[in-house]
Amino acid sequence: MKFVDEFRDPGKARALARRIDALAARNPICRRRPLQLMEVCGGHTHTIFKYGLEQLLPEAIELVHGPGCPVCVLPMGRVDDCVALAEHPNILFTTYGDAMRVPGSRKSLMQARAEGAEVRLVYSPMDALALARDQPDREVVFFALGFETTMPSTALTVLRAEAEGIDNFSVFCNHITIIPTIKAILDSPELTLDGFLGPGHVSMVIGDAPYAFIARHYRKPLVISGFEPLDILQAIWMVMVQLDEGRCEVENQYRRVVPEAGNAAALRAVQRVFRLREFFEWRGLGSIDHSGVRLNEAYARFDAERRYSLPNLRIADPKACQCGEVLKGAIKPRQCKVFGTACTPETPLGSLMVSSEGACAAVYRYGDPAGPPRRDRTEAVDGLASRDAADHPATSQEKPT
Ligand code: SF4
Repeated sequence: MKFVDEFRDPGKARALARRIDALAARNPICRRRPLQLMEVCGGHTHTIFKYGLEQLLPEAIELVHGPGCPVCVLPMGRVDDCVALAEHPNILFTTYGDAMRVPGSRKSLMQARAEGAEVRLVYSPMDALALARDQPDREVVFFALGFETTMPSTALTVLRAEAEGIDNFSVFCNHITIIPTIKAILDSPELTLDGFLGPGHVSMVIGDAPYAFIARHYRKPLVISGFEPLDILQAIWMVMVQLDEGRCEVENQYRRVVPEAGNAAALRAVQRVFRLREFFEWRGLGSIDHSGVRLNEAYARFDAERRYSLPNLRIADPKACQCGEVLKGAIKPRQCKVFGTACTPETPLGSLMVSSEGACAAVYRYGDPAGPPRRDRTEAVDGLASRDAADHPATSQEKPT
């Protein structure tokens, strides 16, 4: 297939849905309880809600929305640190657009900017470095956020800053790693997961080998998936085939983008610039060992956490906020007590309502196809080709997950 329309073909979606139906009908788990498949990546969550893919699946298959939206898992204390940096008199704070409205305990970056802090939206860390180059009398701080997908661009920017001798540039590093997080989810007693759709963007960098333990030790199938509707349906079908054949393997549906060994040059840059933190705090999930990175000693002068004093406080989420339970898949977004009332995309109480990849924002925007009333399958299939891609994260100032 060459063109994006072909990945939204209603006829092929119908055919895949029929095959998934047939496999679910003879799956022994589906006879006892809904089969639970977690899509790890926020980009998948967005596609699932945007195209109503849950309506194409039999009721015996339930999609659990995972923690793969980096904005959604950013704890309140780190947002407060961003605000403190942005309010520093000589700092020009730069960030991807989707982090602007994440609530901190006092305010968001957007509110800080409205009150006079200098906060600029950028499309990449190289844009932030260009600002530092053009304004040598200002201290430019880049808010580095995201999984392994965005780590290489931050690493390469730090290497460029070093090569050019730019010393008024630093990085507030909030990069996180996917593998320890999946492990923490698998070890959680609250969840019974039967398989995974693996993250496409992250896998493009790390390849498929790091997921092997999921199949080997936890006996769960994982299929790395692309982001178009047919990608996701095909990946679900591939998981169902593995379960049907009694296999637990790592497979790659997204071969057109994800090489088996990942991206060696990107991994080299990441290894050179970053080192693992002993632990990192996640919103709703608590502290997870080795789930974040910071800059290596050799690049300490580019590390905003070492250059500036930050509040660095652990702040509890508001009591009414149930982001953690949604992130762990324990409840659906609509089951949060404040969904659509105190918490909306215009007035987000929790971070899952901010990014387009957050499960709550996606449900609010496109409706919850799993909730009543359930729309019919014909309507969902016909809608595949007609929904435009204007709001896909790749076209906005949001970073890829
Ligand atoms: S509705 Fe708001 S507070 Fe509740 S889980 Fe979603 S984002 Fe969090």
